[in-house]
Amino acid sequence: SAIIIDGKAVAKQIREEVASEVARLKDAFGIIPGLAVILVGSRKDSQTYVRNKKKSCEDVGITSYEVNLPEYCTEEEVLKHISVFNNDPSVHGILVQLPLPRHMNEQNILNSVSIEKDVDGFNPLNIGCLALQGREPLFVPCTPKGCMDLLHRHNIEIKGKRAAVIGRSNIVGMPAALLLQRENATVTVVHSRTSNPEEIVRQADIVISACGIANLVRGSWLKPGAVVIDVGINPVEDPESPRGYRLVGDVCYEEACKIASAITPVPGGVGPMTIAMLLSNTLTSAKRIHNIK
Ligand code: NAD
Repeated sequence: SAIIIDGKAVAKQIREEVASEVARLKDAFGIIPGLAVILVGSRKDSQTYVRNKKKSCEDVGITSYEVNLPEYCTEEEVLKHISVFNNDPSVHGILVQLPLPRHMNEQNILNSVSIEKDVDGFNPLNIGCLALQGREPLFVPCTPKGCMDLLHRHNIEIKGKRAAVIGRSNIVGMPAALLLQRENATVTVVHSRTSNPEEIVRQADIVISACGIANLVRGSWLKPGAVVIDVGINPVEDPESPRGYRLVGDVCYEEACKIASAITPVPGGVGPMTIAMLLSNTLTSAKRIHNIK
């Protein structure tokens, strides 16, 4: 049965590595990495994400700066705050929590985050560099970066392997496919209009799933020995849970465990890696801005 890829344990290790490097920057250079988070509106899920990000920053010694704007504020107000953070030397990373209210132009806002401080990697210049051969983005989006880090830390060979990425979103599927391709995997992207997705997935040595559909990928979709990275976080009804629901991935875990050689659980797989990568990106940014090796 499959090796369980323990994202929680890997993320803890990364947070410890970040914390000790943050301490070194402070002791040796008097520099404290800073992350600015902009939250617009009062979505409960977004508030929870922002709270977790702030708490994680504090835990590793990164200073967090938070701006909460009301749902009905203008795009110009958001842009003004971004501009202030772009010019603030104590801020090394800027993150705009998505989704934004409908009346705002997400593209304008993501474009305005300085590429040097774009720790989410959502500025089109960073995505563009990710897509171009011979170019290096300054930042890679945190969730797909976390997926790759799990593969690396488990010594899973990528070069020459067939990979299937399920989902093509800007924040997960698309950058995950680009990252795999940069490491010389042969990548097929499966999406909502793909016919016979199971046929494609069954050829893959590595599957990264980010479609947001509970238990879409059955055991029968997998090639024996495949490595499965399950990004999906999907609530399903569960009367036995105190909240009335529990979270599952895109992959039918019980079935996949019998076929795959390694798999990430949900929760406790990719989820904890996302914030760990954000902290790591913020640290990298502070070092780059201050020209520290
Ligand atoms: P999204 O809704 O933006 O994109 C979903 C993608 O899945 C689309 O590209 C769509 O074409 C594809 N898709 C939809 N139905 C499909 C089908 N039947 N077969 C194949 N592909 C299909 O979602 P997202 O933001 O990319 O997130 C995807 C999942 O990952 C969600 O469950 C989300 O909660 C989770 N997520 C987890 C983390 C984390 O930190 N672990 C971070 C981001 C997103």
